[in-house]
Amino acid sequence: MTVVGDGTVGGGDTPPANTAAETAITDLRLMLNADYDRMPDNYDDLPLEFSPCILSSMEKYLPLNSLNRDEKAKFMSGIILKYLPSEERSRDKMDRDYKQTIKSNYQPLHKELYTLDPEIFFVPSFLEAIKGNTGLRSIISEPSPGVLVFDMLQPSFCEKMISEVKNFRKWAKQTKLRIKKANCMKFFSDDVTEATLDSHHGFVVEHGKDRDADIGFHVDDSEVTLNVCLGKEFVGGELYFRGTRCEKHVNIDATSEERYDYSHKPGQAVIHRGRHRHGARATTSGQRVNMILWCRSSIFREMKTYKKEFPKWCGKCHGDKKEKKSQTLAARRKELVRIESESEA
Ligand SMILES: [Zn+2]
Repeated sequence: MTVVGDGTVGGGDTPPANTAAETAITDLRLMLNADYDRMPDNYDDLPLEFSPCILSSMEKYLPLNSLNRDEKAKFMSGIILKYLPSEERSRDKMDRDYKQTIKSNYQPLHKELYTLDPEIFFVPSFLEAIKGNTGLRSIISEPSPGVLVFDMLQPSFCEKMISEVKNFRKWAKQTKLRIKKANCMKFFSDDVTEATLDSHHGFVVEHGKDRDADIGFHVDDSEVTLNVCLGKEFVGGELYFRGTRCEKHVNIDATSEERYDYSHKPGQAVIHRGRHRHGARATTSGQRVNMILWCRSSIFREMKTYKKEFPKWCGKCHGDKKEKKSQTLAARRKELVRIESESEA
């Protein structure tokens, strides 16, 4: 039995004919550019698996149509659920139980870490920037295209965070709780700024003796990755970047401009696209702890299915487009010279 948009109930032995609204939904596509003047509907009352405000943000990408609120919600939820990592969906209840077990049994070492008070976490320059007093541009440097670096976390927070992670691991070992690991990154398996980052996945990675020695060359399952170094003292562990690529071009060599090595400093954050190919060299001595946040966008993932080329962010697509343009120009110039010489003759 299917409930269609106007509230009538279809079903029975013969499938009901598609209503106009259903046909409209099947043909519907998001617009490539958002309409920021649009006042979206409010979806707060709907029982959803994700935050209703994601629907309001996505509505700015919906073409103007005659769908009612329920129909719009149905169409947009379809897109979001399509890109919500399947393991996150199926593990939803397990995840809730896992978090509840930790919440009710684990004694935090530093309670203040859980207050989410920005004054405790962030360095003053970052605080001023996010408050809008100075602007993020003033604190961010871009040592290589697409690699953004800035000071973010206070040393005292980093230290507390590392000892908290250590304390948590000890507790998990004692209580035989299996710590959930990040879903393995995809080993090679636009415009994010305009899209909405609607799903987040954070984790801590430790490198050094007895831990992952090095992380191979890979892309992240994210649109944007935030990687903050918490400490401690270490040698090695440089991050290396090798250019951003779409799925089709993921194995195409990096150009010399795309090759960039970066030595992480405690408290410093690096932001890059998930599709920016990267890896970390082995931490040869000491211990390096990093906190990583993967931000995903279902709008961006949906838009990607509409296009075949990504010159705005894929280095190879960009190069190909430039090459094609210069070939067209050269051909046109040749043609002009031919016409000119013919008229002179
Ligand atoms: Zn490409």
